[in-house]
Amino acid sequence: MDARIVLLGAPGSGKGTQAKRLCEEFDLTLISTGDLLRQAVRDNTPLGAEAKRYMDAGKLVPDELVIGLIKEKVEGLEGGFLLDGFPRNLEQARMLDGITNVDMAVELDVDEEMIVDRIVKRRSCRQCGEVYHLAARPPKTADVCDQCGGELYQRTDDSEETVRERLKVYHERTQPLVDFYKERGILIKVDGRGGIDEVYHRIADAIRGFAK
Ligand code: AMP
Repeated sequence: MDARIVLLGAPGSGKGTQAKRLCEEFDLTLISTGDLLRQAVRDNTPLGAEAKRYMDAGKLVPDELVIGLIKEKVEGLEGGFLLDGFPRNLEQARMLDGITNVDMAVELDVDEEMIVDRIVKRRSCRQCGEVYHLAARPPKTADVCDQCGGELYQRTDDSEETVRERLKVYHERTQPLVDFYKERGILIKVDGRGGIDEVYHRIADAIRGFAK
């Protein structure tokens, strides 16, 4: 599919898990700013060191740092893509408009109670970034990644306190984007409650329906 899709949703709404699968099925390039930033932190680049301070506090990384990463990935890209975690505020959305068209914005809608539970049980692979959930998607062997055998860990920004701050930032800065894309007539709201497969099929059907 050639669509350019933005995936919106609070932290813990399942964006990362669903984004990966959607990209495989619809043959889209996945661009996750959270993953790009975590990679920069692991690689100990100057950008990574700067970004880490904000990430650990649950705050947004300054736009100029993130925008550079996105430009590099989006400009010159052939075919469709799915953005996970970008844009996160109106300034980023306007900047994105300056470099490409957005065809659809999918909002994953979940309640906050569910979010905190999901996030505190989330584990990620240190090596390949694969994401697990201790109840909904446990690894076959405890603390070991099914994909690459890497060690599973809890993200430093997945503590309950930081999650609360990230939710606040989401409501204040990112939620206005729902109206931004709704006014444009390209918002697709999807119920994000339920199992991973169930939610996946809901999103996939909504995307196919919209693309017709
Ligand atoms: P995520 O993996 O999408 O939950 O992102 C983890 C953290 O990375 C966020 O809490 C922010 O600190 C930072 N981050 C990711 N994407 C962005 C963005 N588009 N703008 C600013 N900060 C971001």
